[in-house]
Amino acid sequence: MNLTDSKLLRQQGYIDGQWLDADSGDTFDVTNPANGDTIACVARMGAGDTQRAIEAANTALPAWREMTAKARSQILKRWFALMQEHKEDLARILSAEQGKPLAESRGEVDYGASFIEWFAEEGKRVYGDVIPHDKPGRRLVVIKQPVGVVAAITPWNFPIAMITRKAGPALAAGCTMVLKPASETPLSALALAELAERAGVPAGVFNVVAGRAGEIGTELTHSPIIRKLSFTGSTEIGRQLMEECAGTIKKVSMELGGNAPFIVFEDADLDAAVEGAIASKFRNSGQTCVCTNRFLVHDAVYDAFSEKLVTAVKALKVAAAEEDGAQQGPLINSKAVDKVRAHIDNAIGHGAKVLCGGQSHALGGNFFEPTVLGDVTSAMDVAGEETFGPLAPLFRFSTEQEAVATANDTPFGLAAYVYTQNLGRSWRMGEALEYGMVGINEGIISSEVAPFGGIKASGVGREGSHYGIEDYLEVKYLCMGIK
Ligand code: ADP
Repeated sequence: MNLTDSKLLRQQGYIDGQWLDADSGDTFDVTNPANGDTIACVARMGAGDTQRAIEAANTALPAWREMTAKARSQILKRWFALMQEHKEDLARILSAEQGKPLAESRGEVDYGASFIEWFAEEGKRVYGDVIPHDKPGRRLVVIKQPVGVVAAITPWNFPIAMITRKAGPALAAGCTMVLKPASETPLSALALAELAERAGVPAGVFNVVAGRAGEIGTELTHSPIIRKLSFTGSTEIGRQLMEECAGTIKKVSMELGGNAPFIVFEDADLDAAVEGAIASKFRNSGQTCVCTNRFLVHDAVYDAFSEKLVTAVKALKVAAAEEDGAQQGPLINSKAVDKVRAHIDNAIGHGAKVLCGGQSHALGGNFFEPTVLGDVTSAMDVAGEETFGPLAPLFRFSTEQEAVATANDTPFGLAAYVYTQNLGRSWRMGEALEYGMVGINEGIISSEVAPFGGIKASGVGREGSHYGIEDYLEVKYLCMGIK
């Protein structure tokens, strides 16, 4: 890999401020999803390594917790600045292991770094409370304290941002962390650890163990030292980890799967809706948990919207990350491609029509054509399951009530999108949709200043914004007799 600073390509684990091989000496390959090439060989950590990381985080906790919020903030701001300084190298590492176009990777470095900057500021504003006393002779005070040692388990679709939106608030609040990044994308996590070290994050405060997911997960969820688990990934694994955390009654934050509806009303600005549709559906080749999964389009504008959408989708440039103008990279692996294909085949089998795409891309491997399907119905698999790929299925509806009922007819509740120019309808939809986030005439809603998170089977807790740091704080009540 062509990097300006080759030391950012780390292949060992990072525990207690040291770069270490796995106890077992095992390693695993990291491959480029665009061509299958092996780009690195990373230490495959297991139970013993994780135990050591947990102990290191526990040892580092008292001093980190005792520092002033301002002192922690200064270190975090240096981390933020180093991410900016090394943006190009971080983006190259990210694209090589994840496949997204370089322009998107640069965007993710900015987005990821923004959480470190935001929480460096927010950590200084963790205020307590004085409650008017209930009885004479005593005073009631609330203080907020860091939760303690926290674990983070993160996915491959945003190899930097899903880490920083956990590490930023955790470290700012005074917690220490053991991170297990996805095995597909450990290099971005390790590069972040290298920059954390350069920024002056003390040994043991931020530890990274990549490798045997089940073994590492079991250590993290069963350890009485770990007080909280923050997980981003599939609902299935999230549910399993929550169950595992029950034994030690840990706090949990869970960012899980979605089944986002994108509702286009007859009074929508169709050009704006198509622009939002492309952004929300095809970003990261459809591999984000807030990506639209179902387009619900009013009968009166169905033909016009589908025509405009197909034109826009056909114009998307499918190419390897480093190619100029690339907009759609490969999917992460062949299993992801199989799922897209299965949803398309199932839909066609039940009467859906291919409006564009529908096949593996001529580039081969994990590249798939951006696809639009028409006449999709609730009988098809894509109505109930997240595709996590470049497939836009169009459903029809004819009344607002029907749109709400269809949109909410899922166990998931992460993001929803609505396009309408009617103010009353915007409010009604904003309130009626059972989702943690609703984009109204906006297709990209994520920001470090806003609360990201879902309800129902999409998760627990919020990341980003002033709400995000609360997930890493305990509320303590002091009842003080003053007689
Ligand atoms: P995806 O389908 O997006 O890969 P997963 O939920 O399988 O989603 O993975 C998200 C994260 O959870 C990754 O870091 C993965 O390695 C980790 N993971 C998968 N299985 C387990 C497990 N049994 N215990 C702990 N972590 C796991």
